[in-house]
Amino acid sequence: MEKRDLERLFKPRSIAVIGASRKKGKVGHDVLKNLLSSGFKGKIYPINPAVHKIFDLPVYKSVEDIKGKVDLAIFAIPSRAVPAALESCGRKGINSAIVISAGFKESGPEGAKLELELAEIIKKYKMNVLGPNCLGLINTFHSMNASFAVEIPRPGNIAFFSQSGALGTAILDWAVKESIGFSKFVSFGNKVDINEVDLLEALEDDPDTKVILGYIEDVKNGVKFLETAKRIALKKPIIITKSGGTKSGARAASSHTGSLAGSDKSFDACFKQSGVIRAKSIEDLFDFARAFSYQPLPAGNNIVVLTNAGGPGIMAADAVDNSKALTLSSVSKEAAENLRKCLPPGASVYNPVDILGDAGEERYEDAINILLKEKNVDGIITILTPQAMSEIKETAKVLGKAKKYKKPIFSCFMGGKVIEHGIKVLREERIPNYSFPERAVAAFSAMINYKNRLSMPEEKPVSYKVDKEKVKKIFQEAKDKKYNTLPEYLARDVLSVYGFKLPKSYLAATAEEAMAKAKELGFPVVMKIASPDVIHKSDVGGVKVGLKDETAVEQAFYEMTQKTKTIMPKAHILGVMVQEMIMQGKEVILGMAKDMQFGPLIMFGLGGVYVEVLKDVSFRIAPLNPTDASSMIKEINSYSLLIGVRGEDPVDIEAVKDGLLRLSQLVTDFPEIIELDINPMKVMPISKGGSFAVDVRITLEA
Ligand code: ADP
Ligand code: MG
Repeated sequence: MEKRDLERLFKPRSIAVIGASRKKGKVGHDVLKNLLSSGFKGKIYPINPAVHKIFDLPVYKSVEDIKGKVDLAIFAIPSRAVPAALESCGRKGINSAIVISAGFKESGPEGAKLELELAEIIKKYKMNVLGPNCLGLINTFHSMNASFAVEIPRPGNIAFFSQSGALGTAILDWAVKESIGFSKFVSFGNKVDINEVDLLEALEDDPDTKVILGYIEDVKNGVKFLETAKRIALKKPIIITKSGGTKSGARAASSHTGSLAGSDKSFDACFKQSGVIRAKSIEDLFDFARAFSYQPLPAGNNIVVLTNAGGPGIMAADAVDNSKALTLSSVSKEAAENLRKCLPPGASVYNPVDILGDAGEERYEDAINILLKEKNVDGIITILTPQAMSEIKETAKVLGKAKKYKKPIFSCFMGGKVIEHGIKVLREERIPNYSFPERAVAAFSAMINYKNRLSMPEEKPVSYKVDKEKVKKIFQEAKDKKYNTLPEYLARDVLSVYGFKLPKSYLAATAEEAMAKAKELGFPVVMKIASPDVIHKSDVGGVKVGLKDETAVEQAFYEMTQKTKTIMPKAHILGVMVQEMIMQGKEVILGMAKDMQFGPLIMFGLGGVYVEVLKDVSFRIAPLNPTDASSMIKEINSYSLLIGVRGEDPVDIEAVKDGLLRLSQLVTDFPEIIELDINPMKVMPISKGGSFAVDVRITLEA
């Protein structure tokens, strides 16, 4: 689809304010006042049928009374009056609008109806509309405050879009206090028309924007969002805070994957796969924003900690150790010698470099110059705790000067009142300051992770040759027989077509048949109840492993069928499955649950019957590429169990990866699959290689 042209929305040459008012405190008053006081250079037309003049501007009864062309209309009238006024904008040829008015979808069924009316009009006149129920828009580089927010940040390279208007005002206030510069500020409210994807695209090539920040509660189209964010994140960092409030993904799940999946899991996967930096809190959002806005990307992950206090230095070093992204760089012999020359004897010249409590500006300056010249230092965290001899303001200036090395510099001036004036200097010098070392390390890590992603080669999902027609037929058979959940023998056939290895297995209707099949397979065998109505076989005593001889098989047959009949009298029992017993290997789970926003969500984890208790699982959205598959395997907490502990043989990780990629292709090829569990898949030790899908369940859309 074509990218939308939002030029006239962001840079209008003329604006009509519908509902402009003389009364202080009314939105229509504040918006008009803000437009004027922000120094908007274009024409402004207040619209209000009851007034002649506001702020010395002539007032019009309707936009259709205006002679000249109008680029943008801002709505500050009651919701029920908006559709007619928007229609009138359409007739006038006004192409862009911001509907600040509330009282739409968020207010109940009547408001929702009004919002649908807006959608119709927007479609009819091909308009670009922001809102309704929003704060408005600020473009600092166009001297335009088209919002009712009083505070307007200084121009800068951060663009921010927010689904919540209230949060928007808080962020603007923060930006003003911290003197953070914004290029654009967009509050998009109910997104009747313009949504997060449109805004990402509008900011994609915006020369004024270096960093994109967002606060979202849901997305209109998950697949589109993932695709767009992935493209744009390669051009500029996108940092997003996402809060709950969506119902997606939560369906009544009959699979392990379904019960472990959920909206937050799918968003997390989406962010990982698209390269969006997820800020877990608003605090993170600010921390990361300042880092990316002020600093160049680090060339590598070696950092040095410079401090005037031992404790905070160790805290920083610990945080670096715990972050998987950073390492403490070693100080070269030459640098150590140079440091020794200018530092007192008690100082530590190794990383963390401790220049002691009585360090003044000069000691900081000398150390920084030596350290940032080092080849294997990619960035620095400078800690200052206020002590008697500290030269706080001057040290802040020293950091500003060190920007000439073009390496990221983070400061951690710790304290409150005493350091305030130093922090002010840091703000002016564009050095991101963090109250605690851990936060500086987190922001630095975010930069490194982003940088690493930029250098990752673009990958395509792997494509396996499979006989899709065969699977189509199997699904048809299931549909004909009205099975939503496929009986195991059919589900096994599906996996087999997609290249999974399965334990040999036979359906036996009688005990005699079961005994004969067991003999054919060779003992020991596994027996499982075969019934389309039994979902969790173990729960009804429907699984027996390690059956050693024919007598055991015969006995198990009667026991198993009897027990199932007692527990589930209505279950239709086809007989039992007699199955080859897989003796070796570790149990993992591979699964999929369809998410309403993002489609098939693939899960990986340590498998078996305890999976829902341990919850040690990871998620990605299909289709997966090989890196997605590898990273979801490595992400689980018990990954070390897979690569072997205490001299144990590692399992065949490649076989797991292959399984995930095949599963991804299967669920992408057949969107009618809504849930799928391979639990367990037994992965062989690397010496043997391969894997077996021991149990599989597939659920199709009803
Ligand atoms: P369900 O999950 O419906 O209870 P499974 O087929 O997964 O039934 O069997 C339960 C457990 O029995 C598995 O998690 C696995 O540990 C073991 N098991 C099942 N089939 C085999 C097999 N063919 N070889 C080895 N172990 C098996
Ligand atoms: Mg199972």
